[in-house]
Amino acid sequence: NLADSLAQVQQLASHDELTRTLTRRALIARLEEQRSRAERFHEAFCVALLDLDHFKAVNDTHGHAAGDAVLRAFAALAQAGLRDSDVFGRYGGEEFMLILGATPLSAVQPPLERIRIELASREWTAVAEGLRVTVSIGVTAYQRGETLEQLLSRADDALYEAKRLGRDRVVTRK
Ligand code: GH3
Ligand code: MG
Ligand code: MG
Repeated sequence: NLADSLAQVQQLASHDELTRTLTRRALIARLEEQRSRAERFHEAFCVALLDLDHFKAVNDTHGHAAGDAVLRAFAALAQAGLRDSDVFGRYGGEEFMLILGATPLSAVQPPLERIRIELASREWTAVAEGLRVTVSIGVTAYQRGETLEQLLSRADDALYEAKRLGRDRVVTRK
């Protein structure tokens, strides 16, 4: 019926087809909401960028279909342990975003380490023989008065630092 069709269209507009998680556009909208809440109610939140390591090599070695399967599995794994106040989605390609609502920077390590460790220790034999996948994570806290561009640029710096330090790690940036 019409209501179902409308719900389907809305789901398609805000969700990535491969991973069924929020799109970049939907994530930015959620960040805007968090930002205005932080300004009005002084509610802390953090944003993490999670970028799969050497993913081009995963595709090159095991094929694009295996790469797609990894992206889907990673999205499921990352979302499995989240709280209601967390928002997860695909920021683009093999890069994902986790918005940690009502969370100070001092509390982000456990959930992010959980994702990192579960991915690194995961068995991929059903997808491809010898496959290993890791993720680098950059995370920062929203600072009152700043723009989303400033916030995301700092998260990106932290991610870049995680890559530079050897990948498969979480780097926090104040
Ligand atoms: P780094 O550790 O520095 O992040 O290296 P990387 O290889 O992950 O980074 P790079 O940006 O060079 O490559 C990203 C790769 O992700 C290349 C691109 O083909 C792949 N990719 C992006 N989106 C998809 C997708 O939807 N499916 C598959 N299979 N691969 C994708
Ligand atoms: Mg990558
Ligand atoms: Mg990338």
